[in-house]
Amino acid sequence: MAYNISMRILFYAAKTYDKDSFDAVSDQYSGIDIEYTNYELGPRSASLADGYDAVCAFVSANVSARTLTALKKHGVGAVLMRCAGYNNVDLDKAKELGIIVKVVPNYSPEAVAELAMGLALAANRRLCKSYNRVRDNNFNIDGLCGVNLHGKTAGIIGTGKIGSAMCRICHGFGMKVIAYDVDKNLTLKRIIEYVSLDELLERSDLISLHCPLTDSNYHMINSDAINKMKNGVILVNTSRGALIDTPDLVKGIKMGKFHGVGLDVYEEEGDDIYNDHSSSLYPNPAASRLMDFPNVVMTSHQGFYTKEALRAIAETTFKNAKDVLDDKRTMNDVA
Ligand code: NAD
Repeated sequence: MAYNISMRILFYAAKTYDKDSFDAVSDQYSGIDIEYTNYELGPRSASLADGYDAVCAFVSANVSARTLTALKKHGVGAVLMRCAGYNNVDLDKAKELGIIVKVVPNYSPEAVAELAMGLALAANRRLCKSYNRVRDNNFNIDGLCGVNLHGKTAGIIGTGKIGSAMCRICHGFGMKVIAYDVDKNLTLKRIIEYVSLDELLERSDLISLHCPLTDSNYHMINSDAINKMKNGVILVNTSRGALIDTPDLVKGIKMGKFHGVGLDVYEEEGDDIYNDHSSSLYPNPAASRLMDFPNVVMTSHQGFYTKEALRAIAETTFKNAKDVLDDKRTMNDVA
C-alpha cells in the first residue's frame, strides 16, 4: 500500500514516557501525525483505528489474526511495532492481508543487557531484601550472602545484539563466557566459546536468555533443562517469558537448584504489564508465587526503558513510518 501525502498513526497503550519521546522527534517528520490512545491494541480496540493509515503497538499488544483482520477492515495498512520482538504478531495473517509490519530491531542492546546484569547482581547479592532491611533500621546481613561472579562461567543463550552486549559485560566482570546460538556470531570469537545447549546448562554459574521466542524454543527452560543445571546457578530472563516454564521453574526453586533468579519477563505477565494493580485484592498468581521466594528478583518488562533506548525507538519508528509512506522495504520489515 502506498501513502503519497501524509500518514495518520494511532498509537496504542500510550504512556507519558512514550508521548514525551515520540513528541520530541515528531517535528522532523512532517506529514506523519500520531494520535495517542491509552487503550491496548486487540481485536475489539482495533476499531478505534478506523480512518488511520497505521497503528503503533508494543510487546503487550494482541496482534493476532482477529486483530489484523479488524484493522484491515478499518483501512489500516501497516503495523509499526515499537519494539524488537514480534512474537505477539501473526505474521502469516499480516502477509495474507497485505499489512506491512515493521519493528525496531536495534534500539539499544546495552539497555537490555545492562538490566540483565543488574538482575543477576540483585538476585545474587539479595539487594532488594538488603534495601528493605536497611530502610527498616535492620542492619543484620544474615541470609544475604552472595557469590563472586569473577572467575565463574556465564552461559549466554542467543548471541545477537543483546546477547553480544551481555557477553561483553560478563567478560568485563572477569567471567569465562560460553554461549549457545543456532547461528554463531564470529565477532565475539575472542571472548566467548560456543558450546551445545546441554553443555551450557551443565557448565554455567550464570545463565542469561537472549534469544527470541519461537515455536521451537517455547519452554526451552523446563524441568529437563533445569535438572541439567549446576546447583546454585543464577538464571536471568530479559527476553520473553514463555522461554521458561513457570511451574517447572517454581519446582526448581523449591528444590534449591538456584542461588538466584532474575526475571524481567514471565509467561503470565499478560494484562498486568505496564499497569498499576497495587490496590487489587487479586494479585497476579504467577508473579506472587515467584516473588514469595527470597532469591527471586522481578521487574516489569523494563529492559528497553532507558532514555537512550526510548529516543532510538521513537526515531526508528518514525523512520519506519516514513519508509511505509515512501513504499520502501527495509531490514526492519517482518511482514
Ligand atoms: P537478535 O535477533 O539480535 O538476536 C537473537 C539471537 O538469538 C540470534 O543470534 C539468533 O540466532 C538467536 N536464536 C534464535 N533462536 C534461538 C534458539 N532457539 N536458541 C538459541 N539462540 C537462538 O535479537 P536481540 O535484539 O538480541 O533481542 C533478543 C530478544 O530480547 C528479543 O527477541 C526480545 O524477545 C527480547 N527483548 C526484550 C526486551 C525487554 O524490554 N526485556 C527488549 C528488547 C528485546
